[in-house]
Amino acid sequence: MANTVIQVPANKMEEIKAFYKPFFTGKTPPGALFSAKKQGLTITAYKSGKVMFQGAAGANEAAKWGTVAEAAGVKSKSSGSPLPPQFSSKNVLGSDEVGTGDFFGPITVCACYVDREQMPLLTSLGVKDSKAMKDPEICRIAEKIIPIVPHSVLACPNPKYNELVASGMNQGKMKALLHNRALSNVLARIAPTRPEAILIDQFAEKNAYYRYLANEREIVREDVYFATKAEGLHLSVAAASIIARYKFVQIFAEIEHELGMTLTKGAGAKVDQEAAQIIARYGLDTLHQYTKEHFANTDKAIRLARK
Ligand code: MG
Repeated sequence: MANTVIQVPANKMEEIKAFYKPFFTGKTPPGALFSAKKQGLTITAYKSGKVMFQGAAGANEAAKWGTVAEAAGVKSKSSGSPLPPQFSSKNVLGSDEVGTGDFFGPITVCACYVDREQMPLLTSLGVKDSKAMKDPEICRIAEKIIPIVPHSVLACPNPKYNELVASGMNQGKMKALLHNRALSNVLARIAPTRPEAILIDQFAEKNAYYRYLANEREIVREDVYFATKAEGLHLSVAAASIIARYKFVQIFAEIEHELGMTLTKGAGAKVDQEAAQIIARYGLDTLHQYTKEHFANTDKAIRLARK
């Protein structure tokens, strides 16, 4: 049986506990806070902050809590491939994704090729690990580097995402498909040049990643490395992350424009309220067009809209 384990902070755990309360089994294993059964799934939360989802739809249910990337990362941290020496000064094709934990807007993946000669310029333009940067700064840097670095940025529109999730695809597979396609696009763009290495910001175990790609015609395998926090390991991943975020922010702004309202990123309580307003104004179908439907925010917004 498929198990997905996520690690959550205490406040998130409170939220999760409240959400599954109607489904508590009353039987709590040692070390656990609660155990619940919902639609063929068993959800067990532990005092350590881990929550385990057992059952076929476990990964999707876990992704409701916006932490599926961490979920995959929790176990895979130790399994990242050791990088060759002087990795940061090699010519590398890197990839990263954003938007996986945001209720509004698409999963967006970017692959980006950076060679040694470009590094001083990119550094002077401000390319670095974007985790510490705010969106306006990320967008300013993105606009400067987009014309100069070979890249491919792919966003999975929300209606398509919802269709894929409904057909049983999990976020991990979707990310794997997008990373692989973005990487092959860039390889084609820079040919006959070959990168010395390819670095994927790790969101799944290597074996799981390639399992997800089993049915793809073209699979990028040669010289591929996986590492968590890869934005800090090579400028190519830092640049990919910046461009992906820029694309996500642009699409997010289009969504705000189309709906005529300001929206919040992430998947918190404010997002529930905004989603409830969308239901009240335009109906539930419209909400689905712009969101990741399987997130817990949908049910919460429906409840809020009824009040
Ligand atoms: Mg990442």
